[in-house]
Amino acid sequence: MEGRLKTRDTGFCAEKLRSEFAILQQTYQEQPLIYLDNAATMQMPDAVKRRIVQHYERDNGNVHRGIHVLSTRTTEAYENARTLIAEQLGAKNREQLIFTAGTTDAINQVCSMTAPFLMPGDEIMVTQMEHHSNFLPWMQLAKQSQAKLVVIPVLEDGKLDLEQFYRKMSHRTKIAAFTQLSNVTGVKNPVEKMSSYIRNHTDALILVDGAQGIVHMGYGMPDCDFYCFSGHKLGALTGIGVLCMSERAQKICRPARFGGGTVYQVSETEMLLKDGAERFEAGTPNYAGAVSLAEACMFWKQYPGRAVREHETRLLTVLEQELCNIPSVRILAKGQEKTGCLSFVSSVAGAYDLCTHFNRYGLAVRSGHHCAQPYLNALGIQSAVRVSVAPYNTMAEIQRAAEIIRETITYFE
Ligand code: PLP
Repeated sequence: MEGRLKTRDTGFCAEKLRSEFAILQQTYQEQPLIYLDNAATMQMPDAVKRRIVQHYERDNGNVHRGIHVLSTRTTEAYENARTLIAEQLGAKNREQLIFTAGTTDAINQVCSMTAPFLMPGDEIMVTQMEHHSNFLPWMQLAKQSQAKLVVIPVLEDGKLDLEQFYRKMSHRTKIAAFTQLSNVTGVKNPVEKMSSYIRNHTDALILVDGAQGIVHMGYGMPDCDFYCFSGHKLGALTGIGVLCMSERAQKICRPARFGGGTVYQVSETEMLLKDGAERFEAGTPNYAGAVSLAEACMFWKQYPGRAVREHETRLLTVLEQELCNIPSVRILAKGQEKTGCLSFVSSVAGAYDLCTHFNRYGLAVRSGHHCAQPYLNALGIQSAVRVSVAPYNTMAEIQRAAEIIRETITYFE
């Protein structure tokens, strides 16, 4: 087993990093807890917890509403969070960044905002590998607006069928929505290539689901009209997320919601909406969430992105090698480059039974359809075990996880 895991040149050390996460120090059933369900939610760094406590002990007041000291402090922290995250994403303008309740909320808002542009017969393009959160809202929108939902299939190896993508893109395509990175197989989509093709052939609006991509592929935002992600997958609070809109989208889209904080002036018949981000944020926003997200982004910025990604890749590569040696195991997207997670099935036991057993040894991984039933169906399965990594996972944990998986499968044989 590899104890202190150092990545070449940079000095990145996963063991040192984990000392900044109190939750990871515990045992379960007298064994070290091995948390490998990071694609579901990442653990919160202690620094983020401290920042939330500080916010509630010192600064808490409603934003944009008051001139007293607490409201002013919270407004400042909230707007600083917007600036910091917009800069990290590479947005041209901080006003492009809207805080949402998470990825699902952002996509639902985009559906409401784009509904007026759709005519019967128009097409909404999604892929077969989407999380339900980037599938069901579009399915619903297509039904409501009599548009057609065009689903780009995946190939046997789990990757998107790009030929079909090129073929099915047409002047009828008004919206294209796809993920940067699969939450099931860890397979990436060539998002830049796809966006550039769309830009060159249509004027469709593009949404990129960055829920997994932002965690493992760096903060740079791909070319799109809507980029969204959830704070809890980066170690921030739940109930906070981001929707970054292109200037074009912001110009043409009406907000999905109306209410307090969005207007300059209201009469009994008219409203004058604010400019910029605030027009899209009706009601009291989750400002504590935004503060936690900014803190989480600053926390992760201390670590060299490339070294962290190399570390995660090594963990998954070793795990894949170990699992390849178990005859009853089928790894999804076997041999493909994986980012963030790896899923598998075994012919000797179902995913639920396996994960129940793993839990007895303190191994926390996910079983089920991972909210991606069309993708799993295409791969010919109904559920799978998913192992998903974070920078704080160590090689020792991966090797112990492989041991638990091997022993459990032997037990079921
Ligand atoms: N999209 C992808 C690729 C995801 O992995 C997830 C969550 O797992 C979501 C969307 C939905 O995120 P949330 O539940 O935080 O809204």
